[in-house]
Amino acid sequence: MSPSPSTPSSTTCAPRSGTRCSSFRRRRSSRRSGLTRRSWKRSTEKLPVLVPIDEMARFVAGYGWLEGKEARDVAREIADDLQRRGLLFRAADYTHRYPECWRCHEEIVFRVADEWFISMDDLRPKLIDAAAKVTWLPPAAGRRMQNWLQNMGDWNISRKRYWGLPLPFYTCANGHFFVLGSEEELRERARAGLEKLRELHRPWIDDVIVRCPECAADSKRVKEVGDCWLDAGVVPFSTLDWLHDRAYWEQWFPADYIVEMVEQVRLWFYSQLFFSVVLTGEAPYRVCQSFQPMLAAPGQEFHKSGGNMVDSYEACELVGADSLRWLFARQDLQEIMYFGWAPLEEFKRKLLVLWNTYSFFVTYANLDDFDPTERPVPPADRPLMDRWLLSALARLVAQSRAALDAYDARSALFSIEAFWDDLSTWYLRRNRARFWKERSHRDSLAAYQTLFEALTTLTGLIAPVMPFLAEDMYQGLVRGAVPQAEASVHHTAYPLERPERLDEDLERRMRAARRVVELGRAARSSAGVKTRTPLGKLIVVFDAQDRDRGQLDERSELADIVKDELNVKSVEIRDRAEGLVKETVKPDLKVLGPKLGKDLPRVRQALAEGRYERRDGTIAVEGFVLADTEVLVSHEGVAGHAVARDAGATVALETKLTAELELEGLARELAHHLNNMRKEAGLEISDRIALRYAGPIATALERHRDFVAEESLATSVRPGLAGRGHAWRGTLNGVAGELEIEKDPSARPAR
Ligand SMILES: [Zn+2]
Ligand SMILES: [Zn+2]
Repeated sequence: MSPSPSTPSSTTCAPRSGTRCSSFRRRRSSRRSGLTRRSWKRSTEKLPVLVPIDEMARFVAGYGWLEGKEARDVAREIADDLQRRGLLFRAADYTHRYPECWRCHEEIVFRVADEWFISMDDLRPKLIDAAAKVTWLPPAAGRRMQNWLQNMGDWNISRKRYWGLPLPFYTCANGHFFVLGSEEELRERARAGLEKLRELHRPWIDDVIVRCPECAADSKRVKEVGDCWLDAGVVPFSTLDWLHDRAYWEQWFPADYIVEMVEQVRLWFYSQLFFSVVLTGEAPYRVCQSFQPMLAAPGQEFHKSGGNMVDSYEACELVGADSLRWLFARQDLQEIMYFGWAPLEEFKRKLLVLWNTYSFFVTYANLDDFDPTERPVPPADRPLMDRWLLSALARLVAQSRAALDAYDARSALFSIEAFWDDLSTWYLRRNRARFWKERSHRDSLAAYQTLFEALTTLTGLIAPVMPFLAEDMYQGLVRGAVPQAEASVHHTAYPLERPERLDEDLERRMRAARRVVELGRAARSSAGVKTRTPLGKLIVVFDAQDRDRGQLDERSELADIVKDELNVKSVEIRDRAEGLVKETVKPDLKVLGPKLGKDLPRVRQALAEGRYERRDGTIAVEGFVLADTEVLVSHEGVAGHAVARDAGATVALETKLTAELELEGLARELAHHLNNMRKEAGLEISDRIALRYAGPIATALERHRDFVAEESLATSVRPGLAGRGHAWRGTLNGVAGELEIEKDPSARPAR
């Protein structure tokens, strides 16, 4: 936490803008310290500087009837006085801006006062050089610092306040000026007042009388206290015991990294840089990161009195401290952050995806007595989906490390989120069955080992930002299951890179396959055919220039994944989309109306009838050449096909349904329905059931008996109802039927 900026708290205030002007005469100065005391006297015009009010804003002696009056109370009296003397031009009330105390909102007045400054001219080039060697993140902050250093005036370091760091400046009756450099020096020079010195603050310090080094006369401290950025600026020295243990200080100086809000460029970052350059000649930090302020959405500042304060503890209770941290760490540091609940709620939903994957794993790992210490199936022997996930995981670790090394938490977090989404919506969804259908122990083990590695690696990756969730997952995944494991995820190293796991070719091909699946889903939904109903064929065309052309093979394992995912019997790759897609071109009336005028109906007719020609991205029609931007192009499947297209690929789904396909679709619908019935009946996920059926639904059930039995964990499938168990009667895909299920107590116990 850095100190807050200083602000005027009394009714008077020195005009800071005056510090920018270089024409003020120096009244008293000490060459040794570069300190200057300036009076508000304009040397060029030789006009006297009048200070009509005292520190309490009352008129001082010499101002006649005004003497002793409060400056803020006399506006009308002054107007009356001018009127009496015939000097008033006009008096009227009007609305204008007026300064007030930011804390108590009392009106304040400007008052001329002498202040202390540090002369910057000699130091400026050194500060600029030192700042140029710092890595500024984002780089704009470095330009801001350079700009500040080049344009700043002398540093006004004094404040007319009571509280604050007493400036150790002393004067004697003979006009000598000196600075005390340490407490020891103060004690050495003191003549009186030491016995009452409780601490180095007012009022006690002001009672210490010291000896003038030039004339030995009694000397007293000046009245002013220091700008709070003086104390803040010595942090790189005061906190590291620079005064008393230089060797210790050297171990830590300069700091590797500092982070604060961007306004600190001209405050805390600057004041530290200043002290450090004066004392050591170099910057006190190597990397300086800054961020923009946070406002309450849609854009107000947070105010305790404004009713929009968010209590951070309450926020933690509501959405979790981890969610807050994640959202802050993911913020673009160059943008103002708008705090609102909606993004947090959205992130909670995202987080639930990760949590559900974790909870799926724990549930099945317990049922199956998965032992993480079992000898691993070599990655090369694991199925393609496992190898793909391990490659994506290795890439994620490398990306996260690189991003965090560059202080770019945002990129790391986005990659991690994308991965846990893929893990759930692609890997796990495609592989669920491997966790409960025991076709092969080795295949199931490979799935467990792959998912275990992905989840434990994720806990390590998120641990710095979501320490609580990561710890909870780590305890659930690793502790208890792995005897030698560290007690906490926070005792483990950040996940290590595994470059040997990277398989770029596989990741490229998987990306192409997933793209086809996305397009296939869109085609299916445009055709209005449920995914559970199988379709005959999917035809895929990647355009000649598309980067995924050639990545997908009809007879590959990836094509099998596409088939299964889209529930189609075959995948065919073609080079051209001709004959699959009907292109419809319509004129964009807003553009072509004015351009074509009376020719528009003729052109529209020709386009509708397909009497046009494509030539290098233009359309030639009825003697006109139209640009792509002047027409609206849409694609539709030819009869019996549903198509979908993105920038470089087209898929066409054959929508013709045969009796066989319909039966299979009904069997899938049945399996899905039976699983809902299992949930309604309150069965455990591992319970085996007896299934009885009646009605026309029997045809599909009997044709696909093994599939339905396997999907619903039925140990027996028999026609005829018994009037027991959880029953259902209704229609599925328009086919009527009756079903009964009950737990099969004779089946083997849960795995
Ligand atoms: Zn106030
Ligand atoms: Zn003296």
